[in-house]
Amino acid sequence: MTMSNQPLRLLIIGAHPDDADFAAGGTAALYRAHGHVVRMVSLTNGDAGHHEIAGPALAQRRLAEATAAGAVIGADYQIFPNHDGELLPTLDNRRQVIRLIRTFQPNLILTHRPNDYHPDHRYTSQLVQDAAYMVTVPAVAPGVRHLAVNPVIAYLPDNFQKPYPLQPSIAVDVGPVLDKTMDMLCCHVSQFFEWLPHNVGMSHHVPAGDCDRRAWLEQQIHARLRRQAEHFRDLLVRQYGADHGRRVEFAEAFEGCEYGSPLDAAARKRLFPFVPFAEK
Ligand SMILES: [Zn+2]
Repeated sequence: MTMSNQPLRLLIIGAHPDDADFAAGGTAALYRAHGHVVRMVSLTNGDAGHHEIAGPALAQRRLAEATAAGAVIGADYQIFPNHDGELLPTLDNRRQVIRLIRTFQPNLILTHRPNDYHPDHRYTSQLVQDAAYMVTVPAVAPGVRHLAVNPVIAYLPDNFQKPYPLQPSIAVDVGPVLDKTMDMLCCHVSQFFEWLPHNVGMSHHVPAGDCDRRAWLEQQIHARLRRQAEHFRDLLVRQYGADHGRRVEFAEAFEGCEYGSPLDAAARKRLFPFVPFAEK
């Protein structure tokens, strides 16, 4: 809970029905574990993300997978009916995102960075940037009441180097919720065990049984979160103190977006109450 005893509200806006939990599942789980409210969103219905099924059947399957992933931590997973692979930063889609943000009233929004391999990720980022500030303008999308304050917006972590690599303002120790994160990701069977390995020619590496394939996915997810902890070690030490900061094995890191309210020291303290912020 916050000092005012109001639960915080976290809105993670991804392009596809697994992006939110893939990039920020640990932070979402920590929010829920501390009694805060989380909604994960996909701006497309994921109906192109498979090699054997497509269209409404795939969208239905992915809705069920995302709903199950959200239920692991007690979070909503909202899927917009836009086609996968066809998202554009149109005025109509911007209004959808403005309405979403105004209705949910988040304290913190997490979304993709604007430079990313996938056009849906890029345009999701663009749509959130375009909705920032506009959510406070009464005459824009007047059907839903405007917000008095522009929410804080931060970018999800990725590995892209150009025009510049992620410059996080906050890094979170997600070790305590690692199993919950894996529980969420394992719900997306059509993705992590079927489509994504197929797409990179690795289908034959996916083990058959539930237990074995979870362990196989776990290796990859752990390695990614471990790399992030190593990469942002200095930030972790500053935030968690030398002892804890050096011991963090798995981390998620986020970069403040200049178009939301600033993710400054006060905002970091308010929005990440489970981080001790050992140094001033
Ligand atoms: Zn995606």
